[in-house]
Amino acid sequence: MNYRHSYHAGNFADVLKHAVLARVIAYMKQKEAPFRVIDTHAGAGRYALTSPQAEKTGEWLGGIGRILGAGTGPLPPAVERLLAPYLDAVRQANGGSDTPQRYPGSPAIALSLLRPQDALVANELHPEERRLLQQAVGRDRRAKVMGLDAWVALKALLPPKERRGVILIDPPFEVRDELARVQEGLAQSLRRFAGGVYVVWYPIKDPRPVARFHAALRKLAVPKPLIVELMVQPPTDAERLNGCGLLVINAPYTLKDELSSILPELSRRLAVVASAGSFRLESSNETGIPRVSAAKRRTRTST
Ligand code: SAM
Repeated sequence: MNYRHSYHAGNFADVLKHAVLARVIAYMKQKEAPFRVIDTHAGAGRYALTSPQAEKTGEWLGGIGRILGAGTGPLPPAVERLLAPYLDAVRQANGGSDTPQRYPGSPAIALSLLRPQDALVANELHPEERRLLQQAVGRDRRAKVMGLDAWVALKALLPPKERRGVILIDPPFEVRDELARVQEGLAQSLRRFAGGVYVVWYPIKDPRPVARFHAALRKLAVPKPLIVELMVQPPTDAERLNGCGLLVINAPYTLKDELSSILPELSRRLAVVASAGSFRLESSNETGIPRVSAAKRRTRTST
């Protein structure tokens, strides 16, 4: 386990993942009944953007650094409103400032949005990351930190006692067959808790394994997932993180419309080279729907 999220915190992939997570949590809060967030690969919980690791890659400058902070320009009001749960969590981690120096990881974002009746289980296998995570979570009574292998944790934690849950699955993709593992873990998890909202992150380097992953999911009895993908550059070099995707199973019915407003702005701002960004937003099990270029600045969705 060599992966350390401190090199990548706040990059374009975090922006997409955390913006979607925050919208899902905002939706869950519309009902008074408590729910639980289960973060299977939680990371360290918070990150200094001034750390040697963050400075080494500078990835956050191409992520949250293009959304908040000096010189970024205001977001369109509708996008600002939809991103407010996410951006407020980032501002909260920065003492209310719009100039990010710290970045909250997924457990910190969840905690900043959860209500007193809700709960968080943050699971992290790496001992040092888990120690930092425990520090980040502090004595918050809504949160529990665990140190199991994520796939074992899912077996132990599903279904949650509240019978309402958001499960974030965000593996580091260090091993070649991680997508196959995700697929298997999802199938098992859905058997235990079919009604959960599952948010699964995946990298897009070479698009071919991703297409195979989508095809394999069609064979599983996965309830119609929402596929959300953001490309920051064309996938000409399959060694680079050219984009990333999220699979949202049992997505809130509002999410697709919300993302159709958010994604054109994210793909425009987060593109490595101007006009090279694109996105995909699809709620059918079809694949092969053309990406929408940020340059065209129009929203393409399908059902
Ligand atoms: N979810 C975090 C966020 O958005 O802020 C980032 C998590 S990072 C991409 C993936 C994390 O998974 C790393 O901290 C890594 O140590 C941890 N990890 C790797 N293999 C794991 C496993 N089998 N079970 C649980 N955690 C694992």
